[in-house]
Amino acid sequence: MLNYGRQTIDELDIKAVVNVLNSPNLTQGPAVLNFERAIGEKVGAAHVVAVNSATSALHLACLALDVQNGDSVWTSPISFVASANCAIYCGANIDFVDIDPKTFNISIQALKVKLEVAKRKNTLPKVLIPVHFAGLPCDLEALSELAKIYKFKIIEDASHAIGSIYFNSPIGSCKYSDITVFSFHPVKIITTGEGGAALTQDINLANKMRLLRSHGITRDHDIFSNKEEGPWYYEQIALGFNFRITDIQAALGIEQLKKIDEFIEERNRLASNYKQLLSGLPVKMQMIPSGIKSSYHLFVVRFDLNKFNRLSVYQNLLANNIVSNVHYIPIYRQPFFKTRGFLSSSYIESESYYQEALTLPLFPGLTDSEQIKIVEVIKDSAITSSI
Ligand SMILES: *Cc1c(COP(=O)(O)O)cnc(C)c1O
Repeated sequence: MLNYGRQTIDELDIKAVVNVLNSPNLTQGPAVLNFERAIGEKVGAAHVVAVNSATSALHLACLALDVQNGDSVWTSPISFVASANCAIYCGANIDFVDIDPKTFNISIQALKVKLEVAKRKNTLPKVLIPVHFAGLPCDLEALSELAKIYKFKIIEDASHAIGSIYFNSPIGSCKYSDITVFSFHPVKIITTGEGGAALTQDINLANKMRLLRSHGITRDHDIFSNKEEGPWYYEQIALGFNFRITDIQAALGIEQLKKIDEFIEERNRLASNYKQLLSGLPVKMQMIPSGIKSSYHLFVVRFDLNKFNRLSVYQNLLANNIVSNVHYIPIYRQPFFKTRGFLSSSYIESESYYQEALTLPLFPGLTDSEQIKIVEVIKDSAITSSI
């Protein structure tokens, strides 16, 4: 079976994990610190808080920005549900902004219109969570200008986009945002099995997230309420969680990070192969504006529905042991969100995207001949032979 994504694990990865297993410390310890330092150096972030998933990182990011009951958080509907759930964990309302039909990212135009309406109604968002879909950075400059005008914070959901570059700024440097979140799930660019990180340039936000990562417990004597206790003493000063990542995972992450440039070059090479193989067919692909490097977490094709039946393409690929996928079912369509009153008719671009899109396999290790085969099966799936 050829899946849409797959991790790349080599002997060095395995050795690093085994080394930790032979060491005295398994959970959050020196390897986590080293992993955090390595990520920060790679992308230019002053503070990195590694956790057990991007979902936890998004949750911590919302809490650090004081998202709470009565607040509004906005994100893109074409994303994984975790981009929206983080707001609801904090008791806030979630709302969605339609996508741009060319980049599949949040539409700046739709956002502007929605912000103006919200300003009049006094329902402006406290936080916007733009998603760098498939690894393509959103128009961060436009977003950060809007953030200044309408006074909202930005959490970049960069679960797809570690290694992406926006006009010389690596994603994760938080030049245009308050916090950026990475995921290290096995289908993503690099993996720790499960894992994520929240990055920021703001030490106060970093400290808040560190505190909440581990139960809201501090061992910092300077901030104790009771300073006269013994050396065993710690204080819980907030309601935190156990979102810790283990040294076992961090050791894997450190090794994976060393290979990230190689992974991304290969993903880009495979993506341009697809573009070449698919050129001339009645399909649309994600537009990558100049000045931007995508990590190419996903390769999505949008079919002209007069020429293709997407379900048939999916089934024909599957009959050839090729597992494609749809990223994503618009979040507002999920039953959990439907009960919150969202109407599909408010999201015209997301709806047509959802009807047309299919994710093709893309990962380091996919071969050129497998790509040729995939595109052949797609061609053979056309409704008419006249494509
Ligand atoms: C994968 C993903 C997440 C969640 O990542 P986990 O590490 O699995 O929690 C969040 N947002 C987006 C856009 C993702 O693709």
